[in-house]
Amino acid sequence: MQKFKTKIIFPIFIPHVGCPFQCIFCDQHHITNQKEIDWDVIIPQVQKFIDKTNEYKEIAFFGGTFTCLGREEMLEYFLKFKDMIDAYTYFRISTRPDAISSDILNFLKSQKVNTIELGVQSFSDKELSACKRGYDVVNAMNACGHVKLYDFNLCVQLLIGLPQADSDTYDQNIHSLKIIKPDFVRLYPLIVLKDTILEEMYRDGDYQPLSIEKAIEICAMFYQMCEKYDINVIKMGLHGDISKDKIVAGPYHERFGELVKKLYLKNKEFSG
Ligand code: SF4
Repeated sequence: MQKFKTKIIFPIFIPHVGCPFQCIFCDQHHITNQKEIDWDVIIPQVQKFIDKTNEYKEIAFFGGTFTCLGREEMLEYFLKFKDMIDAYTYFRISTRPDAISSDILNFLKSQKVNTIELGVQSFSDKELSACKRGYDVVNAMNACGHVKLYDFNLCVQLLIGLPQADSDTYDQNIHSLKIIKPDFVRLYPLIVLKDTILEEMYRDGDYQPLSIEKAIEICAMFYQMCEKYDINVIKMGLHGDISKDKIVAGPYHERFGELVKKLYLKNKEFSG
């Protein structure tokens, strides 16, 4: 099967499932506004989603580190939909770059996975070590290359405004994107969420989030490069489902992506 690109996705949030630890900035329960996975609700919804159209589409497992699960556990997720999957329905999963191997990729192929989203977060060692991600740029680049080599769509997720971020780290990130040329990119300006280590850092004065203006400006720079290199930016900014009372600080705006595109167009107009 040739891979296909689609915007028709049914997202299933599996908060922190498989995560080896909680990253300093992350709380998927706050981000997704979801505590439990209610399969009794989800499964009939997926059936409707499948029945609705004969176009190629994906059921997506987001919000965790899917490939850090054991083989049997991953299989359980796929098998939930075994009886309803038709010829047009495939899967999309999100995971960490250090949870990719040939073995895992072969397994995902055998389970009709079409797209892999890698929560790379940064292609700068300075930023990766400041947020204690547990891998370096070489690991991240290798994982991206590996996913492409196995002919999956690759979506790279990046965080803008990580601790230690500066113009050099943004340049490194942009340069890496040009080299990798992923199929899709998601850009998330970093928000300080309640109950995270980042919140402690912020309250202790060890972390200062970007202003909304700066976050828009930086994302517009990334967006411009992606447009130039034909890289599809599918999301900028966190979605509107996030629990607003869990946001401590940072450049959150419900229409963040629109604001970035507006600035991008304005910049384009002025640069002739
Ligand atoms: S950033 Fe990814 S790996 Fe880290 S806790 Fe959140 S979902 Fe898990």
